[in-house]
Amino acid sequence: MIKTKRIADDILSGLERNEFIAFYQPQFDARTHNLVSVEALARWQHPRLGLQTPDAFLAIAEDLNVLATIDRILLDQTLADLRHWDALGLAVPRASVNVSLRRLHDEHLIAGLKQREIEPGRLAFELVESIYLDEQDPVVAWNIDQLKELGIDVEIDDFGTGYASIVSLQRLRPQRLKIDRQLVRPITVDPAQRQLLASIVDIGKSMGIQVVAEGVETLEQASLLRDLGCDVLQGYAFARPMSRNDLDIFLQAQAWRQAS
Ligand code: C2E
Ligand code: CA
Repeated sequence: MIKTKRIADDILSGLERNEFIAFYQPQFDARTHNLVSVEALARWQHPRLGLQTPDAFLAIAEDLNVLATIDRILLDQTLADLRHWDALGLAVPRASVNVSLRRLHDEHLIAGLKQREIEPGRLAFELVESIYLDEQDPVVAWNIDQLKELGIDVEIDDFGTGYASIVSLQRLRPQRLKIDRQLVRPITVDPAQRQLLASIVDIGKSMGIQVVAEGVETLEQASLLRDLGCDVLQGYAFARPMSRNDLDIFLQAQAWRQAS
């Protein structure tokens, strides 16, 4: 309890002191291994404890009602960093940000996005599956429609572990679905799991939805996922999440080409 209270206080002062930053994990075309996108992931530069990952602060931030604020900080940093890579001539075709449920209930979300000069096709929102439980909420449905109007792609995160149904895929028509890493992990050893993954790819294909595999840890998984028809791969096999400066160096060196 006392520890949680302390972290809660630290989060609030951390927000004032701009301690929340974006790390980026690259995503690659499964066939060509060209970089197609980067996912922005929140990190907290804690003054005493050092760099913290979301498991250390996300749940408490949600209780404090500041998760939407963190999402917004990450969005602004991502947009600024896209401009940075453009200025350096580094090809980052797209970036995605994670979106918490509360932000989709925000009736001012779209007005806020319209003020931000977002180039169509450059940004994607990753929506956690469980969000669709609330799809009856007209504000959520309207926001999702409007995102597409603005040229912001919609992706379904952690697909296969939550509540997204075929019907909700049809209704939502996302550009991409991301297969959860729990479903990716066993595919090289378990034929039944491989079949399951192939079926998800087929569902995506039949609806014109691109399929992204996350948590790809080995090159063996990477080639199998390519053969199963996945379009995009993300995971430690290629690159871990990294700071903007580290990503600059990674892109300049084309570092993943040597590994893969
Ligand atoms: P996620 O959206 O499923 O993000 C992928 C997580 O998997 C990241 O953890 C990433 O570091 C990790 N990962 C990437 N490749 C591999 C791999 O090959 N193997 C394994 N085992 N893990 C891999 P991270 O950065 O700790 O983020 C955890 C979760 O926190 C994210 O899961 C996302 O749901 C949430 N999150 C992160 N940033 C934000 C944010 O800005 N806003 C919101 N609302 N949620 C965020
Ligand atoms: Ca995600």
